[in-house]
Amino acid sequence: MKLKWMKSLLVGLFCLFSAVSLLQAEGVNNNQNNTDTSTVVILMGPPASGKGTHGNFISKYFNIPTLSTGDLLRQEVQAKTELGQSVEAAMKNGDLIQDEVIFALLEKQLRQPEYANGFILDGFPRTLNQAKTLDALNLGIDFVVNLQVPDEVVVSRISGRRIHPASGRTYHLETKPPKVAGLDDVTQEPLVQRADDNPESIKKRLQAYHEQTAPASQWYQKMASQKGFVFIQVDATKGIDAISIQLKEQLK
Ligand code: AMP
Repeated sequence: MKLKWMKSLLVGLFCLFSAVSLLQAEGVNNNQNNTDTSTVVILMGPPASGKGTHGNFISKYFNIPTLSTGDLLRQEVQAKTELGQSVEAAMKNGDLIQDEVIFALLEKQLRQPEYANGFILDGFPRTLNQAKTLDALNLGIDFVVNLQVPDEVVVSRISGRRIHPASGRTYHLETKPPKVAGLDDVTQEPLVQRADDNPESIKKRLQAYHEQTAPASQWYQKMASQKGFVFIQVDATKGIDAISIQLKEQLK
């Protein structure tokens, strides 16, 4: 078991090191020199805490793209790639995916030039192990934004959530219904429920959050001043506008 864990870590480290070396060789994301102008933001929070919504705001604010490991995995599932087929069941169940798969996906994505001026990591790191692996790379994190929402709010948000897969627009049956039931407001295409937005999976995802992701965000909170980034704690039950105002204040 321990050997398997170490192998995952080594493979992950290798993949991420090669991605970051590539970026650094191209001079695009080296926060350790004085010419750096890139911004790296880590966005954390339980499912349905608003990472997509507030990630969009931060993305516009800094003009940097969001990199969501969940989205990357869903694209693989939808395209029925070998990787997609290997993770589909685990995702549907609400289980976390092995580190080496996540690191390999990130490595591939970070090679794209659009991430040259920085990026927002949404859904990564998800465990203390992923956080420490990322830390070893000295990527130059500027902000960690931690969205906090109680479990009962997560459950209610997820059970009513419907999405427009092509655009990522999200709706809620009660709090943000579409103009015409079941259809996207802009394209009138059908809305769907995410495969993992079912009651059993929600339970598991919340459990994974509390047991594996919360320790990572607590670690970031503890390390912020030592590592030189800003840790922003957000009460994500507040309205979108109030949170945008808080973020504008603190993302400096
Ligand atoms: P999300 O869209 O962030 O809610 O992620 C959806 C699912 O993708 C999760 O429930 C996990 O199965 C998987 N996933 C996303 N990011 C990670 C990660 N960093 N580590 C492990 N599994 C992940």
